[in-house]
Amino acid sequence: MKQTYEKQREAMVKEQLLGRDITDEEVLKAFLKVPREEFVKEKDRRWAYDDYPLSIGYGATISQPYIVALMCQILKLDKNSVVLDIGTGSGYAAAILSKIASKVITVERICELAEIAKERLKRLGYSNIEVIYGDGFKGYAKGAPYDGIMVSAATEKIADAWVEQLRVGGRIVYPKYDGIEQTLVEVLKTQSGIKEILHGGVRFVPLIK
Ligand code: SAH
Repeated sequence: MKQTYEKQREAMVKEQLLGRDITDEEVLKAFLKVPREEFVKEKDRRWAYDDYPLSIGYGATISQPYIVALMCQILKLDKNSVVLDIGTGSGYAAAILSKIASKVITVERICELAEIAKERLKRLGYSNIEVIYGDGFKGYAKGAPYDGIMVSAATEKIADAWVEQLRVGGRIVYPKYDGIEQTLVEVLKTQSGIKEILHGGVRFVPLIK
């Protein structure tokens, strides 16, 4: 069974990531290392490597692998990076980020999800991830400054706290909701302020206040 998942994982990387526009070697390597079947509901394991998000309960979803890969690639991280992940959900994106960066702090506002993710990441041996139960809009000042911030739930605008907690030269990637649709936005922090770069259309659950 284990080998089956491994084969599915390799096929997912080849078809859904390399087959699209994911070229960052470290991102591709990370996706080969994280067992996505461990992050979905038991009954959904056979669909763990399919090209779409899956419900994980509490109104949350584990994002489509390609979108997580795209967000990682946009952040341009390296092995020294410290990353803030907002919306822990299953913990999958945090696990992927932990294979690329040196430290990941992940914030989740639903206590049960935070607890489940914490247990899961501990059981699977991820030692450079800290799961925080709290409000992602506030970021997490104690771990700042961050080299990258990944926001996995849609919001109309970025929180001031995120920009404050980001180092100059760092990036935020988030789904921007304009009342009708969502666009993936890259925010670059420069000495003189922030610059926004638009990527494609996406669909995330809302970031809740
Ligand atoms: N990155 C996740 C996907 C999470 S879905 C994964 O890989 O599985 C979005 C998550 O954001 C949900 O778990 C939801 O509960 C959480 N969320 C919504 N509003 C939030 C807020 N204000 N702060 C932190 N997390 C929030």
